[in-house]
Amino acid sequence: MTAVNSVAVVTGAQRGIGYGIAQVLHNRGYRVVLVDIDEAGVQAASATLAGSAWRAVDVRDYAAVASAVSSIEEDIGPIAVLVNNAGINRDRMFHRMSEAEWDAVIAVNLKGYFNWARHVAPGMRARRAGRIINIASASWQGNVGQANYAASKAGVIGLTKTLAKELAPFQITVNAICPGFIETPMTRAMPEAAFQQMLQKIPMGRIGTPEDVGRVVAFLASDDSQYVTGEVIAVGGGLVL
Ligand code: NAP
Repeated sequence: MTAVNSVAVVTGAQRGIGYGIAQVLHNRGYRVVLVDIDEAGVQAASATLAGSAWRAVDVRDYAAVASAVSSIEEDIGPIAVLVNNAGINRDRMFHRMSEAEWDAVIAVNLKGYFNWARHVAPGMRARRAGRIINIASASWQGNVGQANYAASKAGVIGLTKTLAKELAPFQITVNAICPGFIETPMTRAMPEAAFQQMLQKIPMGRIGTPEDVGRVVAFLASDDSQYVTGEVIAVGGGLVL
């Protein structure tokens, strides 16, 4: 799979880790399609990456994802790389967590990943090539105040490993990345004391950048990783060892 002009779709790409991934793939020659729920934001983000495209899509909407995949494949080209990244958190201790907070996180972080993989996989199977890269989280192993988020990310790992097994005969690889603590609007929204506490837990002594994640995505998208599938790669400066 050559990067030059290959189409790479990144969800949740108007900012944060998604934008960092889009930037790295763009710099390596992919034709990047930035997807986000925020139309003005994703259009503006795409304008900073010459030659990229954008689609405003709510990843929770199965039918909207289906038509986005068709329109990308008709207008731009076959999707070679799918990066499922759009995610939210609604943190609260479990005894106070509402049904709405549970449902909201599962709908974006788990159903959203299903929706994109479900519509992209048939084309990849037909072409006998493709890369699906799912952004999970170190929290998948359990984290206080994140029952909904951890469950969604553990679900992403189950989805990743199952798709890896089902799609391997078609030379499609499916892997997950678990970012540790990365500087984005999501983490900047934390209370300052919690932010500083997290920083102190990182053996490498610094917060990660969206580009730190983007470079590992680029490896998983490239020919260099063609015999790697079903893996869960932590990108966290040693946060979880
Ligand atoms: P972020 O800054 O909040 O960016 C997430 C993006 O996803 C936003 O642009 C958001 O758009 C978009 N989005 C939300 N709901 C959507 C929907 N229904 N349809 C389409 N797009 C939607 O978050 P981030 O920190 O970059 O996180 C990106 C991914 O990395 C997530 O899966 C997150 O769980 C994971 N992660 C992050 C960290 C970290 O330290 N930051 C650590 C581990 C894992 P709006 O702004 O319009 O809502």
